[in-house]
Amino acid sequence: MDPVCCHLVRGLPAIKEGDDLAAMIRERFAVQDGDVVCIASTVVSKAEGRARRLEDYSPSPRAEEIAGRLEKDPRFVQAVLEEAEEVLLDHPFLLVATRFGHIGVNAGIDRSNVGEGRILLLPVDPGASAEEIRRRLGRDCAVIVTDTCGRPFRCGVAGVAIGWAGIAALRDWRGERDLEGRELEITLEAIADEVAGMANLLMGEAGDGTPAAVLRGLALPKAGWRLFRPRELDVIRARLRDRDSG
Ligand code: GDP
Ligand code: MN
Ligand code: MN
Ligand code: MN
Repeated sequence: MDPVCCHLVRGLPAIKEGDDLAAMIRERFAVQDGDVVCIASTVVSKAEGRARRLEDYSPSPRAEEIAGRLEKDPRFVQAVLEEAEEVLLDHPFLLVATRFGHIGVNAGIDRSNVGEGRILLLPVDPGASAEEIRRRLGRDCAVIVTDTCGRPFRCGVAGVAIGWAGIAALRDWRGERDLEGRELEITLEAIADEVAGMANLLMGEAGDGTPAAVLRGLALPKAGWRLFRPRELDVIRARLRDRDSG
């Protein structure tokens, strides 16, 4: 088996609206067929013009009420509500489902690496962003748009995939045999998240200035499966909704 290598793409500048991320990556790194190119959602959002000024939001009464309870800026809460397709928790933090299916605290709105008084919304459709970047990279590679997220049940944040192209979200192990010859029945492995976690580890969270990482030598399935659990199969989501309305 080929060695698996991880490369950070170095030397990317501050990303501005309209920047061609694929071209900027290609200028600094020779992407090959089979590579998995991971890009922090922060810079995808910047390139797609998703930065906003807090002062441009007018909080609704609901935003004011939630903000008072959470001791947050009501304009920030308003921004979260505007990005939310459904609010799953409004205390002790705001957990919402975004329109593209990702569930995250504060709708993934980021205040790090964007400047004072400014916020950064997640891309409108990170899957479409990944497809477009993949097309512009011009290689038979995979692209994963990552974000650092908190996890239920576990301490600490980790990188996850919020958009992907050219890679299956999940790998299906069903029908494979374990060491004892027993057939695996239900094992779907979240490979896009696992790769995103590794890339996120390399990128760092602060001032490293390295929003892109490439993993080479992984043999992963290219297509198939979804990663966001369908609403009707998500028992935790249903419980949260019952709890909040109860
Ligand atoms: P997120 O996980 O998508 O929210 O992204 P982070 O805010 O954690 O940033 C991930 C990496 O990208 C860190 O190394 C940041 O320093 C870097 N980064 C963020 N914005 C920019 C930018 O505009 N240009 C460059 N070169 N790096 C950036
Ligand atoms: Mn950030
Ligand atoms: Mn983020
Ligand atoms: Mn991060």
